Amino acid sequence: MLNKLSDTIYYLSNQDDRERPTLGLVSGEQYSLIIDSGNSPRHAKDFLLEIENLNVPPVKYVVITHAHWDHFLGMNEFDATVIVNRQTNEIMKEWQCLSYDDHSLQKYVTANQMNAMCMEIIQTDIPNRDSFKLKSPDVIFENTLTIDLGNKICILERIKSTHTDDSTIIYIPDEKVIFLGDCAYGTTTNSLFHYKQSLLLPMIKDIQKYDAEMFLLGHESICDLNEMDIYWEELTTASQVVRSTSLENAIESFKVETKRDPNDNELFFIKAFVNDQMIQSL
Ligand SMILES: [Zn+2]
Repeated sequence: MLNKLSDTIYYLSNQDDRERPTLGLVSGEQYSLIIDSGNSPRHAKDFLLEIENLNVPPVKYVVITHAHWDHFLGMNEFDATVIVNRQTNEIMKEWQCLSYDDHSLQKYVTANQMNAMCMEIIQTDIPNRDSFKLKSPDVIFENTLTIDLGNKICILERIKSTHTDDSTIIYIPDEKVIFLGDCAYGTTTNSLFHYKQSLLLPMIKDIQKYDAEMFLLGHESICDLNEMDIYWEELTTASQVVRSTSLENAIESFKVETKRDPNDNELFFIKAFVNDQMIQSL
């Protein structure tokens, strides 16, 4: 079921057991725009069926927030203009060359080009995958792009991110709603989960310049301003105490500076920043 955020914005909640991210729908007077195309044709079809039940203008645009498979493998299902930033386009080119039969999938997983969960979802949720080829995006932008859906402006911006280097966010000014994709999350490199520490403050700045009250996140669905502020605060405090690859030193600094123990989230973030220090020191 779609969740209604306002008269013109709906979203399909993330579904973690099937690696399905949050999908968004924004409607103007003339057109509708989709945010992320789903992790598979089946996910996309489920979303399109829900949209059919709404009385909204036709879907003219699909914006893909970044080039992680769970956000774009459903894109062939949309008869719409697919929009990505330049770097997302570069990464997606690799996926356009892949074959999706069992033998090829197993080869990609063995070579660490694809994770096992991705293979599993492809096997269950892409019908006719022996002949499946991912389409190319239609519009590629550099830094920002503004789209008018008919008395409804959407601002796309490629921002700095702790998750990937190709993160696009979508801001709808007259609703004070922003779709963040996965940009505010960490990432895994060489099996180490980390937040790119050098990009944390630039990212928060990039996001906070928009006057948003509701935030849609790829694997959380919705957060209000207060929840987002707490998230930024915990991340920032954790980052400030991590200055080396020593977890002990970071926790000690945390206690000295805040005169308390870190909570579970802060401890999780501190570990992720320590991991980032390790990756940077390699
Ligand atoms: Zn992602």
